[in-house]
Amino acid sequence: RKLGYAILGLGYYATRIIMPRFAECEHSRLAALVSGTPEKLKTYGEQYGIPETHRYSYETFDRIIDNPDVDIVYVITPNSLHRPFTERAARAGKHVMCEKPMANTVADCEAMIAACKKAGRKLMIGYRSRFQAHNIEAIKLVRDGALGPVRTVVTDHGFTIGDPKQWRLNRALAGGGSLMDIGIYSLNAARYLTGEEPVAVNAVESTDRSDPRFGEVEDIINFQLLFPSGATANCVSAYSVNCNRYRVSGPKGWVEIDPATSYQGQAMRAQLGGPPAPREPAPQPKNQFSAQLDHLSECILTGREPIVGGDDGLKDLRVIEAIYRAAREGRTVKL
Ligand code: NAD
Repeated sequence: RKLGYAILGLGYYATRIIMPRFAECEHSRLAALVSGTPEKLKTYGEQYGIPETHRYSYETFDRIIDNPDVDIVYVITPNSLHRPFTERAARAGKHVMCEKPMANTVADCEAMIAACKKAGRKLMIGYRSRFQAHNIEAIKLVRDGALGPVRTVVTDHGFTIGDPKQWRLNRALAGGGSLMDIGIYSLNAARYLTGEEPVAVNAVESTDRSDPRFGEVEDIINFQLLFPSGATANCVSAYSVNCNRYRVSGPKGWVEIDPATSYQGQAMRAQLGGPPAPREPAPQPKNQFSAQLDHLSECILTGREPIVGGDDGLKDLRVIEAIYRAAREGRTVKL
């Protein structure tokens, strides 16, 4: 059976990246659209054959409770709207897929988890890299002990951001700067590569406040993480350089991916006994986006919990709050 998704927020990621990927899904189909813009509902409704009865505005959205064709609401709005729309979706009896970052604060994440729990519905965060072949391979190499115990993760995530008027540079809508949007990939990778939760955090920020883009949010915020095993992570988060890579190392070798968490084009190298060499991951049956969509459907159909549930989004936000505190106070923050 294919479960029905309602896509809420018809911006770039929803319309260009996610919606075309239902075509390759086994257990998921596009069933409804939710948008504040009537023209988008008409355009995408016609393109994807979504009847007018399954097109909602933000005002009529709560009526989705009466639509049995919708099992899951996928929230793809600016960050500060993740919590209110997740809560409304749960109240309407729907399971929720929510984009990263899960929300702006730990308190918001906890409220979202509570809302879905109360409704008896599942909550998953859009951490698509967990379904991407090269990332799956890197995690497997680490778990199989090919590197020995992980000692270091080095990871950089950034892009040069443009238009100063976009929501990503508006604190109220974005919740923060590069860390909330792209640096979170460095953090999340450090957590899934080590399989541990950090116990101490250092951070430094560098932002040119005279740059019209950075009046409200940070540009660079680099951070270090210490994990219980003694593993460490050095992480870049930036809105003024392009980078997207990681290398995880242990005494027996290392594996790196560059680009690591992009939509496509991942390239892997490893040094495992012999000299450094390119490495092809084991092929995965689906692209990362379709696999992510199907994972939640399969969890609902089989009664399992998603590998990246609300608890995982909450863990990232706990560390994010500690990173901001460490940078602000100029000290190591213990977790
Ligand atoms: P976008 O600006 O292209 O789209 C945002 C959509 O939200 C727009 O259609 C906009 O009309 C709508 N919206 C609703 N209320 C709004 C408001 N009050 N102000 C502004 N816009 C409002 O952004 P995007 O790049 O699609 O990002 C949306 C979400 O998806 C973000 O949380 C982002 O972090 C996440 N995202 C995830 C990935 C990924 O790879 N997992 C990639 C891109 C974006």
